[in-house]
Amino acid sequence: MRGPGRFAARGSLFAVVAALSLVHAQAPAPKAIDWNSLRPEILQHYRSLVQLDTTAGHETLAVDYLKKVLEAEGIPTKTFALDPKRANLVARLKGNGSKRPLLILAHTDVVGVQKEKWPVDPFGAVMKDGYIWGRGSKDDKPVLTANLMTMLLLKRLGAQLDRDVIFLAESGEEADTYGVGINYMVREHFDEIDAEFAMTEGGGADIQDGQVRRVNVGTAEKVPARVRLVATGTAGHGSVPRLDNPLIHLGAAVQKVGLWQTPMRLNETTRAYFQKLAQISAPDRAAIYKALLDEKRADEAQKFLREHSPGEYSMLRTSVVPTMLKAGVGANVIPSEAEATLDIRALPDENVQAFYAELTKVINDPALKVEPIPQTRPASPASKLGTEMYQAMERAAQAIYPGATVIPSMSTGASDMAQLRAKGIQSYGIGPGSTEADAINYPAHGDVERLAESSLYPFVRYVWTVVTDVGGTR
Ligand SMILES: [Zn+2]
Repeated sequence: MRGPGRFAARGSLFAVVAALSLVHAQAPAPKAIDWNSLRPEILQHYRSLVQLDTTAGHETLAVDYLKKVLEAEGIPTKTFALDPKRANLVARLKGNGSKRPLLILAHTDVVGVQKEKWPVDPFGAVMKDGYIWGRGSKDDKPVLTANLMTMLLLKRLGAQLDRDVIFLAESGEEADTYGVGINYMVREHFDEIDAEFAMTEGGGADIQDGQVRRVNVGTAEKVPARVRLVATGTAGHGSVPRLDNPLIHLGAAVQKVGLWQTPMRLNETTRAYFQKLAQISAPDRAAIYKALLDEKRADEAQKFLREHSPGEYSMLRTSVVPTMLKAGVGANVIPSEAEATLDIRALPDENVQAFYAELTKVINDPALKVEPIPQTRPASPASKLGTEMYQAMERAAQAIYPGATVIPSMSTGASDMAQLRAKGIQSYGIGPGSTEADAINYPAHGDVERLAESSLYPFVRYVWTVVTDVGGTR
């Protein structure tokens, strides 16, 4: 992997020179940057951040690191903490005020790990086979690193800006039951982060044959609408079988909803997404996408995607995924209650109450109740295509990943863009390059997470190029 990776990276350096001159023509970037010489610094910050165990409750570790790095270069920082162990950090580089600010943000927290599943230390940022391995190596420390490097370079090069560029490192994106991160910042300190545009996780770039072929810009996302399924029955002795044993009822219900093919529905973003894919994909895959857009043949296409491309399958519908089971106190005890958690992700325009009613019909068992779990994300409108920001992102993609197609996409996951979009900030999702196999086998939140080193550097350049294009003085 290392060989081709390096070759690809070296090849794209020429593209960057071209990219920078392209940016110069539109928005004079301050000075030429020797990206090659910046690699050790980029890698060092990235690895240092991955090495911090910032699972929920420890985010201030990252804030302390960022504060030190930013302030050492004369960039003032402010921290805002509802919980001192879960602080948020804001840094602002002032523009001339002719345009409204640009917010670049990343979350510092990572999801937990099951150590025994990892071939290496999950917080070692171990470099092996051309990858950097570690929890957070994809989600979300590449964005955090790219944003950090962008701030450092803007400052070092004395960039002239039309807009303030605001850096936000926020806690509690993965688990924010107490509202310590974006909810707190939006509610209590919105003036610190208010912006016309925002850019953060929620997009990505697909690598095929060693090259980025497609850049997804996140313009919309699904809305979490989780529920608990609660089965009740009569408690009793484990030696006496009972038909109302809640485990039996729950098990059957979990199987039904887990295999339920919810109705397929396209929206503006996903229709554009699949139309574009139909144009650029290899013939056999293009045929699948074309079939998907044809009512009569959509079923066969869905069947294929369900098996071979679960992420795209999820984009077609409100999805229902059983994720947790809770029941029992002893091997010889029938409990009176058993519970499953369903991670439901609704399409942005879904009528959630009506969906729960449909779910109840599918389960068709009076022993079970569907209990909605309170959500921390507001419903959020899709961001617009064709804005100054979106166009800058398209230009940057063309410059850094020549020949790649830019596609607006709807994330099946949720991000802190929901809160920002709900406040009227046009927000766009980005992410480093990944092969399809890597996205499936080493996904964000997966047992093991890793990022190709060769994906890190172009991604930092991409962020830098977008920010200087949309924020730099023309
Ligand atoms: Zn994330």
